[in-house]
Amino acid sequence: MRACTETVEQGLYTRPPYTLSREDSEHPLILVCEHASRFIPAQLNDLGLSAEAAREHIAWDIGALALAQRLSDTLGVTLLAANYSRLLVDLNRPRHAPDSIPGQSEIYQVPGNRDLDETTREYRRQCLFKPFHTRLQTLIDQRIAQGRPVRVVGIHSFTPIYYGQPRLLDVGVLYGQANDYAQRLLDGLGRHPLKVAGNQPYKIDPLGDMTVPVHGDARGLEAVLIEVRNDLLRTPEAVARWAGYLAPLL
Ligand SMILES: [Zn+2]
Repeated sequence: MRACTETVEQGLYTRPPYTLSREDSEHPLILVCEHASRFIPAQLNDLGLSAEAAREHIAWDIGALALAQRLSDTLGVTLLAANYSRLLVDLNRPRHAPDSIPGQSEIYQVPGNRDLDETTREYRRQCLFKPFHTRLQTLIDQRIAQGRPVRVVGIHSFTPIYYGQPRLLDVGVLYGQANDYAQRLLDGLGRHPLKVAGNQPYKIDPLGDMTVPVHGDARGLEAVLIEVRNDLLRTPEAVARWAGYLAPLL
């Protein structure tokens, strides 16, 4: 990495890249919320997005942090949550994925990510991506070293309208290797009046995902990603209802 002074974003990332809650929990579960925040430093002018677009699902997973915090509170489990928008650098993508720093996201152009020089891209990775994944890896390493079981669950939400098409699914459980764990979750969610599916609305892809394949599957740990449709997470009561569905199953 060249000197940080060579990027116009030098010094902008002053808030911590993540918040780690209940680090000392003895529960096997580690909750991860990579798309928790829509925060973009003011100097970056929402990366050229309209104020409306910068509040949309492209910037964060609406309701996901509230759900993850509620689950962390209910179960007393560790939660690692990002403090910056996924548009700066997506924490659930390999660092060299084409959409790691997207110039376009769904139907929205992201002008502030176009024509970024490599120094600035690397600076974002060093400030935001690397600390998050190093912390998660260390957390898992410590527990394995103590002989403790570990499960990793990412909490996400998806937009009800995608490229103009309505999506009717209520909740998806995305997984790669963790078939048994995913099936238990799918069976449990299926006992509620919900539209539930495995590996929808997305599939786990080693080139398009980070947390499940890298921190879970590659280490032989149970790992899944939960996707709840974000219009179902818009009130505290709705979030509590979803935590009630998920908490006994995780
Ligand atoms: Zn997400």
